[in-house]
Amino acid sequence: MKLAEKVAIVTGSTRGIGQAIAEELARQGAKVVISGRNGERAQQVAAAIQEAGGEAIAVQADVSHMADAQRLVKETLDRWGRIDILINNAGITRDNLLLRMSEEEWDTVLQVNLKGAFNCTKSVTRQMMKQRQGRIINITSVVGQMGNAGQANYAASKAGLIGFTKSVARELASRNITCNAVAPGYIQTDMTAALDDAVKDSLKQQIPLGRLGTPEDVARVVAFLCSDDAAYITGQVINVDGGMVMT
Ligand code: NDP
Repeated sequence: MKLAEKVAIVTGSTRGIGQAIAEELARQGAKVVISGRNGERAQQVAAAIQEAGGEAIAVQADVSHMADAQRLVKETLDRWGRIDILINNAGITRDNLLLRMSEEEWDTVLQVNLKGAFNCTKSVTRQMMKQRQGRIINITSVVGQMGNAGQANYAASKAGLIGFTKSVARELASRNITCNAVAPGYIQTDMTAALDDAVKDSLKQQIPLGRLGTPEDVARVVAFLCSDDAAYITGQVINVDGGMVMT
């Protein structure tokens, strides 16, 4: 098992892509911390992983609050004494055209998607530096690379995450900590279920592989980046998008 003995925090793992990532990391031997604002749901996901033979705990936390991020890290260390992997996956949308977008819609999205990653990364960094080992993976989006009408707030947060990823990668490389971003395309989750059919159809037409992605498509790539096989990869954005963005 490629991730045996590793301890991983996955933010926003109460459902969707984060849940699939947590399940995949657990399958590969990692001890995982399930986290989200919904504590009850976090318990359910952790219990399912345990029933499948994995190790998991649940910690209720809202990543937009620094105090929650610090508590998430503390509870992980209290339980397992180390942190090898942080997946900054928690994310939200509040779509609107720019002319109609409220300050609240802008601020909320930036606070969760970008500040949340800062809060959690800052909170784990000291421990990872001490261990001289770590993997940080930020879940960005093709929208951060291409832009999308109606998602100026979301696109800005996801583009911001890419700059954040590259800066953290440069800062922490000398301590054997890698930091990469994964950019999913159009993945079937609650987040995309909310899109209207016309938007879904137009998105589908932009996917060369001709199908929507699954949370598991993303999870397997994240697990690879967490493994020793990816030891020499840092500061990169890996697209998991069926070919939507080709750079
Ligand atoms: P979902 O809406 O299905 O799940 C979002 C997760 O984030 C939930 O577990 C939710 O848990 C958690 N979350 C939301 N706000 C907070 C918060 N303030 N603090 C902690 N956790 C929070 O989304 P997806 O699974 O689709 O998306 C996961 C990530 O992937 C996001 O960053 C998203 O931007 C990105 N992405 C998704 C794509 C897609 O097509 N689905 C495409 C590209 C990127 P809870 O409600 O318990 O807080």
